[in-house]
Amino acid sequence: MMSFERVRKQIENKPERVSRYDRFNKSKDRKFGKITHPCRKCGKKAGVIRKYGLMYCRQCFREEAERVGFRKYS
Ligand SMILES: [Zn+2]
Repeated sequence: MMSFERVRKQIENKPERVSRYDRFNKSKDRKFGKITHPCRKCGKKAGVIRKYGLMYCRQCFREEAERVGFRKYS
């Protein structure tokens, strides 16, 4: 699929098309919803753990868990 950035780059020297493209295809600025809490390490928006203010996605949490003080018991 053609991403927003790729198409934007192709038409960047055609100002009229850029303004139309932005008007109809720009992603919304959201004040709430999962998109407002991306992973602080990789920026992923899916599977983000917000509990205890972690803000890591589940993949990064596995890597960072011990460093931020989580330990395995039993
Ligand atoms: Zn992540």
